Amino acid sequence: SSFAHFGLDKHTMATIRKQEFTKPTAIQAQAVPAGLAGRDLIGIAKTGSGKTAAFIWPMLPHILDQEPLAPGDGPIALILAPTRELSLQIYNEARKYGKVFGLRIACCYGGGSKWEQSISLEAGVEVIVATPGRMIDLVKSGATNLRRVTYLVLDEADRMFDLGFEPQVRSICDHVRPDRQCLMFSATFKKKVEKLARHALVDPLRIID
Ligand code: AMP
Repeated sequence: SSFAHFGLDKHTMATIRKQEFTKPTAIQAQAVPAGLAGRDLIGIAKTGSGKTAAFIWPMLPHILDQEPLAPGDGPIALILAPTRELSLQIYNEARKYGKVFGLRIACCYGGGSKWEQSISLEAGVEVIVATPGRMIDLVKSGATNLRRVTYLVLDEADRMFDLGFEPQVRSICDHVRPDRQCLMFSATFKKKVEKLARHALVDPLRIID
C-alpha cells in the first residue's frame, strides 16, 4: 500500500512527504480508506501505530466539504482523548495538517484555564481536541456547542474509561447528531469498549493493528 492510493489532496500529500514517512502503517492502510468513505470504525491500536494520522487525514476532506462556520457555530470535528498530554499531541498533529487549509483548532483539557479555553473558542473553530470532562464543562457554560459535529473521534477509549470518563463520553456521544461519522480507537477491546462501540457506532469496520 502507498499514500497515493488514499487519493488525498496535494497539500496533505506534501505535508506527509515532509515527514519522510515511507509508507502507510498497517492501521492507516485499513482505516484511512474507510474513514474517507465516511464509515464508522473501531481500531484496536496502540500509540506508535500511526493512529493519530489515520483519523486526521480523513478529517480534512470531511471538514472542507462542509459549509463554512457561521457565527455561533460549534466545531465540525470533535476529538476526545483521555489526558492533557495526548490531547496536546493530537492537537499538534492536527495543526500540522490543518494549517495549509486555515483550519482553526482548539485544545481543551482539564487543569488548563477554562477562561483561556473559552476565549479560544469564541471566534469559532472547525476542530476541538478535548478531554471529556472539560468538553462537557465548556458546553454547559455556553462556550461552544456540539450541534455541528459530524466527525467524532474517541481516542484511547479504554484509557478514558479507566480514568472514569465513561459517563462523560456517553453523554457527548448522545448529544452529537446521530448521523455523524464516528471513529473509535482503543489499545484493548474490553467489555466496556465493546459496549460503547455497539452504542455509538453504526455498522463499524473493525480493524486490528
Ligand atoms: P501515533 O501512533 O499516532 O501516536 O504515531 C506515532 C508516531 O508515528 C508519530 O511520531 C507519527 O508522526 C509517526 N507516523 C505516523 N504515520 C507514520 C508512517 N506512515 N510512517 C512512519 N511514521 C509514522
